[in-house]
Amino acid sequence: MERVVSVDLGATSLKAALIDRTGNILCRKTIATSKAGRAAIIEQMVTVIQDLARGESVKAVGIGTPGFVDSKMGSVLLATNIPGWSGTHLAHTLQEHLGLPVVVENDANAAALGEAWKGAGQSLESFIMITLGTGVGGALYSRRTGLLSGSGFRGGEIGHAILYPGGAACACGQKGCVEQYLSGHVLEANYLRRTNKRLSSAEVLAAAAKDDVARGIAERFAFDLAVLITSLQNIFDPAGFVIGGGLVHWRATWWSWLDRNVREQCVHGGRVCLLPAATGNDAGLYGAAYLAFSNLMGAL
Ligand SMILES: [Zn+2]
Repeated sequence: MERVVSVDLGATSLKAALIDRTGNILCRKTIATSKAGRAAIIEQMVTVIQDLARGESVKAVGIGTPGFVDSKMGSVLLATNIPGWSGTHLAHTLQEHLGLPVVVENDANAAALGEAWKGAGQSLESFIMITLGTGVGGALYSRRTGLLSGSGFRGGEIGHAILYPGGAACACGQKGCVEQYLSGHVLEANYLRRTNKRLSSAEVLAAAAKDDVARGIAERFAFDLAVLITSLQNIFDPAGFVIGGGLVHWRATWWSWLDRNVREQCVHGGRVCLLPAATGNDAGLYGAAYLAFSNLMGAL
């Protein structure tokens, strides 16, 4: 059976998988993303892809990467989370190394495709994907028209929607971006500033039941996320929201608060459908594989 290798690049880890046409993950590898810049990361990708493809009938490669991505050219236009990654002609470079067709997409867009194919989005005609990890990503997906990538491949970048005008400075150059309030990185920094103790964002959210500082941070997180969802619901009226990323694993502490906040804040949208991502951390891998199959080998 035809197979592809998909890669989900993050600032902290690089995940890759060998996937068949029905969406079975046959083999996978996860390594820490190199901090040594562009050439080192590309070398890591080539090695991991070649390892997974060895002895298999791999026909194509799909990549999800952080940043604004020109998905037609397969180039990373701007990436603030990985030093030196902006301006990488990723598809072209990997094709030269691998001798296989390569398709590249923004990581949150890939996650949305993964959830549409194999996850919580399967039942939705349209949905907005929100990924809550080290940073905040987003994607707008409709079964009829596919991803809304915008006129300059910046569509769905809800991490840089303004949540608090004039607020915290963002690496993108704006002030008050969503990413400065809802990212795991910011939850960790807030906890450290108020307690002098270093916890991971997962630990902060998990501690919310018994630690007052953590609870305050998690409550604010749920409130702010509801503000974002209310705006998006009123602008796009999607059939639902699929919320993924690492922080969703720790939703036992904040999901009901989010639900209550959305019901209180979003009074015009009717019942807003909120779903946790069902493919967990594999959404990006499934989505990049889906792209590799559908763009390079004909629709699934
Ligand atoms: Zn920003």
